Amino acid sequence: MPFQLIQLENNQANVSCPFCHTDIIDWSQEQYVQPCEHTLFVAMDLGFEYISDVFEASLPRTVDEIHDDPEMDMFAEISKSSITDFQVFRIDLGVKDMYRYVGVISKL
Ligand SMILES: [Zn+2]
Repeated sequence: MPFQLIQLENNQANVSCPFCHTDIIDWSQEQYVQPCEHTLFVAMDLGFEYISDVFEASLPRTVDEIHDDPEMDMFAEISKSSITDFQVFRIDLGVKDMYRYVGVISKL
């Protein structure tokens, strides 16, 4: 795995960037995904909610190809990134083994 996995238990809590402390997931905002400059992606098992150009370029497949794949495994897809030394927060959504993933990196 090219990243450090950090499990978060509270799926109602905001998710803050460890570097600039922006709330990347901010439940007080109507648009609750608020990427900062360190955010590589925000994804659920169903697909990406946000992806940076840098992170998409680091994957073997495009986002469209990933989303079109009925067998898509989000955790496996993000594990194929050629970027190393990033962090992924994994939040249990509490339904059917569904997770949200938030990827961050200090600098590229
Ligand atoms: Zn940040």
